[in-house]
Amino acid sequence: MLEEKPAGLIKFPPSGGDPYHVRTGDSWESIAKANSLSTWALIEFNFPVVKTEANFQRKCRMVNWLLRHSVGCTKSSDGKNYRFDGSDRPGIVYIPLFDIPPVYTDRVNLHFRSLSLTDVPFDRIFRAVQRAYAPHGIQMSFASGMSLGLSDAEAARFASVTGTCEWEITSGEFAEIQRLGPPIPSTDIAVYFVKEFDTTSLLGCGGHLPDKHACIVAAGAATYSTAHEVGHVLLGSTFTPVHDPAISNLMYAYESRTGDPPSLNATQLTRMRASTCCRSI
Ligand SMILES: [Zn+2]
Repeated sequence: MLEEKPAGLIKFPPSGGDPYHVRTGDSWESIAKANSLSTWALIEFNFPVVKTEANFQRKCRMVNWLLRHSVGCTKSSDGKNYRFDGSDRPGIVYIPLFDIPPVYTDRVNLHFRSLSLTDVPFDRIFRAVQRAYAPHGIQMSFASGMSLGLSDAEAARFASVTGTCEWEITSGEFAEIQRLGPPIPSTDIAVYFVKEFDTTSLLGCGGHLPDKHACIVAAGAATYSTAHEVGHVLLGSTFTPVHDPAISNLMYAYESRTGDPPSLNATQLTRMRASTCCRSI
């Protein structure tokens, strides 16, 4: 194997990344592509010690050495370089939010409450929420997360959630769901994941109880849907337009919205920063 121990200080895991368990068939390229990153940004985020190495061959040999020592890679396809394998132990690489780390000026605390597992893995949902707001300096912070552990009767009742999405939720199943779990600070936002709504075209609702900032998202919602519903909570009921006509905007009404991440415009950002849930750091 082409290996060389890096001369500099080795720090692994890197701080600020999300852990990802490698699988057989993964490569740096595929993991980077799935997360809208460039390959070398991903490698150098994990192994910053190789960043300053100007000799490309040597740099690749260092990456191999680090793959064996830090990720536990042992398998190779060409006898020269390690490849990722599901049996690697610990077999974890770390995914940064962006190629270039964001600079945060504001923070929003999110509390995740789950009545159901989501189709999109939770780490990807949370990263999507972070990615949608980070370019604007707004840090989406994971304040708490829990499965609500419903009784069988409650689980059956909320298997499909009945109600219409209104700005102000005062009664019905939407309200009951938003009362589940321990209380959260009035300046934080609760995100409830449910299996589905009776209205199957509905994938999320940013309406909430008058005394609580919350939104509800269906398990089948798309990657950026949670970020969209949190957007409604931050914009509040008086902001217009509720949904932005631009398809690349996070607040576009439909799941077909484009952009990774979708954008937010200056008017939306001014209102979001004025929300009691958005606090300057
Ligand atoms: Zn919406």
